[in-house]
Amino acid sequence: MNRIVLPGATIGVLGGGQLGRMLALAARRMGYRVHTLSPGVDTPTGQVADLEVSAEYDDYEAIRAFARGVDVMTFEFENVSTAAADAAAELVTVRPGGSALHITQQRAREKGFLADRGYPVTPFAKAQSLDELAVGLALVGLPAIVKTAAFGYDGKGQHRLDRIEDGERVWGLIGHQEAIIESVVDFTHEISVVAARGLDGEFAHYGAIENIHRNHILDLSVSPARVPAGLAGEAVHLAHRVLDDLGYVGVLCVEFFVTRDGRLLVNEIAPRPHNSGHLTIDACVTSQFEQQVRAVCGLSLGDTTQVKPAAMVNLLGDLWVNGEPDWAAALAMADVKLHLYGKNDPRVGRKMGHITALGDSVDEAAAKALAARDVLC
Ligand code: AMP
Repeated sequence: MNRIVLPGATIGVLGGGQLGRMLALAARRMGYRVHTLSPGVDTPTGQVADLEVSAEYDDYEAIRAFARGVDVMTFEFENVSTAAADAAAELVTVRPGGSALHITQQRAREKGFLADRGYPVTPFAKAQSLDELAVGLALVGLPAIVKTAAFGYDGKGQHRLDRIEDGERVWGLIGHQEAIIESVVDFTHEISVVAARGLDGEFAHYGAIENIHRNHILDLSVSPARVPAGLAGEAVHLAHRVLDDLGYVGVLCVEFFVTRDGRLLVNEIAPRPHNSGHLTIDACVTSQFEQQVRAVCGLSLGDTTQVKPAAMVNLLGDLWVNGEPDWAAALAMADVKLHLYGKNDPRVGRKMGHITALGDSVDEAAAKALAARDVLC
């Protein structure tokens, strides 16, 4: 199998969402062909790919056939089963490798991986039954957040628990499935580090990005993060360690809490480009998506220099409650960048697009991006 995959070759993407779409756009600009496989049709990725295959992620025959048609394979969605990644890996190089996927797609495994290696993490316990939940809550203390171990993102499968009596109700709400219990962190900031590791261990990063969530979903990101430089440097150092410990090839994101007493706690790892890194498309010499193409194809990493302070706001389906948002009004602001993902079903909480703005300071950039979103409806 080829170590290095050059422009003109075909990149296969498991997953059909917006991350695959922005990856495909970067790849096609560089002269690659892109194939995508997901259960959907006319997906955000499929709309801009050379070929869209519709199949379930557990249809291993379809995944093998797909793998035969590409030169390297990656995924844009970490809940693809490792069995699917392994089926593909028999036929074609898959980057990042299935073991990183295996660790990071299940919160309990990911927390264990981090805690065993001495990374600072939120105090947590694992539970596979209601009894274990009660023991875990006693260990971790209240208030706590109970998260399903598998298939969680954007706050899905998460419930806050303020009283021990609520344990049974929350256990029911998460469907009696394996969970982790975390103490609620008293944080001043949430930050993330989007970083890449190349085939030969080369490292590149975009510094610390500051993230503000609303209803557990990312709302606003600004870069650079408004935290002390030493703390940002420590976060980058920890992300570098994670990449090395995973033997990772590709872009990943490590999310952190900054506690009120100024410590960093790793919240989670996303084994792919990340929502908080979308601003790199407009603000950096090399976007996180071009970086992913470079890493996955075994090429040198690109320059991550940020041209100006930047901000990004997410556009959720909620903006459509009164009909189509007023795109012309936002685009009348000549220096903001609109990114829409081609989704035609604007459900509440669904990520439909984002807006990026640059400025002389992150505050100015954030004000511009927020103003552009405000005029949409
Ligand atoms: P997650 O899916 O784990 O990244 O959680 C989504 C968001 O929920 C985080 O970005 C935080 O804003 C919030 N959250 C998750 N876990 C905790 C925690 N242990 N303490 C406080 N807030 C949390």
